[in-house]
Amino acid sequence: MYDVVIVGAGVMGSATAYWLSRAGKRVALLETYSPGHVRASSADESRMVRYQYRGQTLYTEMVAAAVELWKEFDRRMGTSFYREQGALALQAQPDTPPFMEGYEGLLELGYEPQWLDSGEVRHRYPQFANVDSGYLLEGLGGYVAARSATQALAEAAADLGADVQTGAEVTELHESGGRIARAITRDGRAFEADVFVIAAGPWTPRLLPDLSIPIRSTAERLHYLTPPERDAYSYPRLPPFFVMDTSFYGFPVHWRGCVKVADDTIGAPFDPDREREHDDPEALAKLRDFLRRHMPELAEAEVVYSKTCTYSMTPDTDFVIDRLPDRENAIVAAGFSGHGFKFGILIGQILADLAARGATRWDLTRFRLDREPVAMDGHW
Ligand SMILES: Cc1cc2nc3c(=O)[nH]c(=O)nc-3n(C[C@H](O)[C@H](O)[C@H](O)COP(=O)(O)OP(=O)(O)OC[C@H]3O[C@@H](n4cnc5c(N)ncnc54)[C@H](O)[C@@H]3O)c2cc1C
Repeated sequence: MYDVVIVGAGVMGSATAYWLSRAGKRVALLETYSPGHVRASSADESRMVRYQYRGQTLYTEMVAAAVELWKEFDRRMGTSFYREQGALALQAQPDTPPFMEGYEGLLELGYEPQWLDSGEVRHRYPQFANVDSGYLLEGLGGYVAARSATQALAEAAADLGADVQTGAEVTELHESGGRIARAITRDGRAFEADVFVIAAGPWTPRLLPDLSIPIRSTAERLHYLTPPERDAYSYPRLPPFFVMDTSFYGFPVHWRGCVKVADDTIGAPFDPDREREHDDPEALAKLRDFLRRHMPELAEAEVVYSKTCTYSMTPDTDFVIDRLPDRENAIVAAGFSGHGFKFGILIGQILADLAARGATRWDLTRFRLDREPVAMDGHW
């Protein structure tokens, strides 16, 4: 018997286990594979932390709060998972709506992004070509070393007493009297608790097929390339960046001497259990095309590693954080729509508060299951 059983050891579940264990709760964290395994959305070397949310105050406030928690976690663990390298936003064409909304939204919230005209972009960031303008939020945001941070959260939870079970796929949430009574694993083990947190990433619809907000698992391709000159593609000469109207974004050298460049276009449906490291000539051709136009020195750079990762898309790209309407002791946290990682440590704290106290200081109305989602084609 546990206070809380958590299903899924991605960043959301691992952070929840961490905060609950820190508060002295008896926790089981059940994971099909292992924390930060290659198929999980949380499993990559880097996930961007950007403050610009097109004027969506709640998200920007949550980013700022999450950054403080990442820093505190790093201080406590003696690590540097959060790399505060700022974020460089670029646009190829003038007045791209999401780009301008991001810039103006930051100004409205009192941040001070530095505007860069095309000459300044060329001068400060000669890695780029055919760019109309950009802005830099210096020293705010950057990226989190995602896979290692996820694993460290699960390990920290275990050190604080959580029962972290790998190879424990939950196949049934057994109900009794309008509540979930126990989680049953494929190998027949039963885990009982007062409260259940379901943080199963793109697998969520398998466990909860009747969610009123649909969650779609989509294929997203990312690539690691060896740059011609390492220093020129390392921070501070290159911060994390995105070229908004191309949907490509990337990170300075941070893994095996490579830069990472990835495509943020919402991809085709993808079974989250599928193999990830397959070839994808179409995605590679699209990458080369982007590089030829906008990062020409990398156009022929060796691609050292590529993989497909999965977004869990809701129609409006807002998250789902709510109690299940017919099972009041179950909380679902899913649908992070390609922008959830940066918030992971904060979402874990919110879920821990909901599980332990039944309340959080954050207004979660936006993330409710009974909202009427308005479809968006990109994400916030
Ligand atoms: C290519 C790509 C780029 C991204 N870029 C960014 C970015 O720059 N910035 C950002 O903030 N976010 C980004 N994201 C989004 C972010 O990575 C996700 O929102 C976040 O990692 C979701 O975490 P999660 O814990 O919900 O899911 P996951 O990490 O997928 O974890 C879910 C876990 O649950 C386990 N599980 C599932 N079902 C069961 C079951 N029945 N029993 C037991 N265990 C189960 C799975 O094995 C998995 O380990 C990106 C995502 C992708 C794919």
